[in-house]
Amino acid sequence: MTLLERTRYLQSAPVPSTKEEAKERVDELVAVLTAHAELYYRQDAPLITDNEYDQLLEGLRFLETRYPALLRLDSPSFRVGGAPLDGFEKVSHPEPLLSLGNAFDGEDLKAWYERCKKRLDVDEDVDIAVTAELKIDGLAVALTYDSGLLVQAATRGDGRVGENITQNVRTIANVPLRLSGNSVPRRVEVRGEVYFPKSAFDTLNDSLRSRDLKPFANPRNAAAGSLRQLDSTITAGRELAFFAYSVGPVTESVAPTQHDSLVHLREWGFGVNDHARRFVDITDLITYCEGWAEKRDDLDYEIDGVVVKVDELNLQAQLGNVSNAPRWAIAFKFPARESTTILNDIIVNVGRTGMITPEAVLEPVMIGGVTVSQATLHNAAYIQDRDIRIGDTVVVKRAGDVIPAVVSSVSDARDGSERSWSIPLECPACGETLERLEGEVDSYCVNGACPAQFIRLVEHFASRNALDIEGFGSKLAVLLVEAGCISRLQDIYYLNREALLTLEGFGEKKANNLLQGIERSKDRPLARILFGLGIRHVGRTTAETIVAALPTMDNISRANAERLTAIDGIGEVIAESLVDWFSREPNQEIIRSMADAGVRMESLADEAPPDGDDAPFVGMTFVVTGTLPNLGRKEVQDFIKQRGGKASSSVSSRTSYVVLGENAGSKADKARELGVPMIDEAELIKMGG
Ligand code: NAD
Repeated sequence: MTLLERTRYLQSAPVPSTKEEAKERVDELVAVLTAHAELYYRQDAPLITDNEYDQLLEGLRFLETRYPALLRLDSPSFRVGGAPLDGFEKVSHPEPLLSLGNAFDGEDLKAWYERCKKRLDVDEDVDIAVTAELKIDGLAVALTYDSGLLVQAATRGDGRVGENITQNVRTIANVPLRLSGNSVPRRVEVRGEVYFPKSAFDTLNDSLRSRDLKPFANPRNAAAGSLRQLDSTITAGRELAFFAYSVGPVTESVAPTQHDSLVHLREWGFGVNDHARRFVDITDLITYCEGWAEKRDDLDYEIDGVVVKVDELNLQAQLGNVSNAPRWAIAFKFPARESTTILNDIIVNVGRTGMITPEAVLEPVMIGGVTVSQATLHNAAYIQDRDIRIGDTVVVKRAGDVIPAVVSSVSDARDGSERSWSIPLECPACGETLERLEGEVDSYCVNGACPAQFIRLVEHFASRNALDIEGFGSKLAVLLVEAGCISRLQDIYYLNREALLTLEGFGEKKANNLLQGIERSKDRPLARILFGLGIRHVGRTTAETIVAALPTMDNISRANAERLTAIDGIGEVIAESLVDWFSREPNQEIIRSMADAGVRMESLADEAPPDGDDAPFVGMTFVVTGTLPNLGRKEVQDFIKQRGGKASSSVSSRTSYVVLGENAGSKADKARELGVPMIDEAELIKMGG
């Protein structure tokens, strides 16, 4: 059996009922986990996701607690990381770099907190302070500074012995080679995480693929692989970054608490994560941890949890360590969002604009409590670039409301039976030859009468963000189109009550409700109608931008490309698409016929953007870059729009301000180049009143 087959068996095997069975299971778990740890720590090429590894490890810990006699000295539950790689000089750590215990929910966190208090003999009603820090998913390193100078950098390795990577760490731009400030100790070890920013990760993998080199599975592996290069010029070419998070062995103690240590680290010149907070109330702490599980995608680096540490260093010393982890700290791990499974097939869907999207048919897998059996594969180029094959083991991600997506394939798990896939030449719904427009990655069915496309368009027109017709979902769209009640988009407004009543499942009430819903939709804001027409490249925000400048359908339909591109935020591609759409007679007929049916074709004054005191940002365009300390992406955009401003994604000479957050990238450089003023979140909020 392959390692993956053994893993799959362990993932679904029933809990052993006898001690003999338990022994066999423990032996198998130790062997399988050890093999995965080797792939993860030493080869930077995991076969399974971290959550899958953690679940197997929890299974092993459960059996070890139940049958203490089965505890093996080589159990992965005692160990930290992996042995250092050959080729690097070995470094012994003066104090071991440990792993962390895990908490998977608020209850686990509370239990840990109570355990700490009990061990410290603190009264039940007394709270002890803790620091909560984002758990950066990178690679732990220990940096030694002698008289303020960086003299050694080492990986964690197996916790006691790591690899000497001093030359490589020197190439990381935000690692100070000399410490600054007044409080620099004679000799100090600074611990922190080297990570790979998400924005640079895709670029790195694209470049590896283009040179036929194996891409990294995730930013953590990219960080580990880039840092442990025998040739430091390779490391220098990779955009690694560093966050310092603690002070290790030191000649003169610098601070009484973890929180104060972070202040010193910042003063010495280190990048310290801005989101660390000190808590005395455990409920607030849990809210913070759960909040970050939701907001993690707003950051430009991967986090896999929150590290919670008892704040006072002397309490930490009193609590001490267990074999491989401190008692005074714990990792709150986020719920699973990724899992591996088998890609059984690839089918294609035809969207409302005729766009063909490949979809993965998966061996059903549970992710974060939901069974996932289908996931998007975006487009043919995505599949090709990632060399995703039918039969592959794939990593599937399901985050929040986002449609599950196949992220990558695990090429090391192949047995040769996998098949490459290519996009069909013809539309699966109507047989039309598919076209790929120049410069676009997607293929399209250009047959305006394609039934699959038309159903999607009707569904889109009626959907919540467009005309918001109550009770008009995808099933109804299929029913009405297939029954011939709707054969052109405008037919929605000419539905015949009698004809509806002949349809399966339709009674008086349902027909009346639908017709009333359709009637109400006639008065929706113009931007929603424009969006509902399903014109290629005209999304919701684009439709709003256009309507703000051209407030009637007549204005929009007459606008030429020059007029359209004069609108801030409208580029040539959108303009061409609009001009092309309105130039076609059947489309003009849609507009005429809907207007005749009473659909409002102009915007009302109350749809106009705010003005007066409520609108300090009128006429201003903002570009937000990097992660802001408080406002998420959507929040900051709403903040700007509600005050009459525009939020744009690219910096140009027309940009009024660039709002800078943490890890701002090339947009900040562009702003500097063009002389666009830059502000931070606090200034933005102040200006917004
Ligand atoms: P850990 O994830 O349990 O926690 C310790 C590490 O957290 C530290 O070494 C440090 O690198 C990091 N960290 C980040 N921010 C920190 C902060 N602010 N303060 C302190 N530490 C911080 O580390 P581990 O012992 O390497 O745990 C194993 C992890 O590796 C698990 O998530 C496990 O799933 C994963 N793993 C995965 C596989 C696989 O096959 N997918 C195999 C082995 C291990």
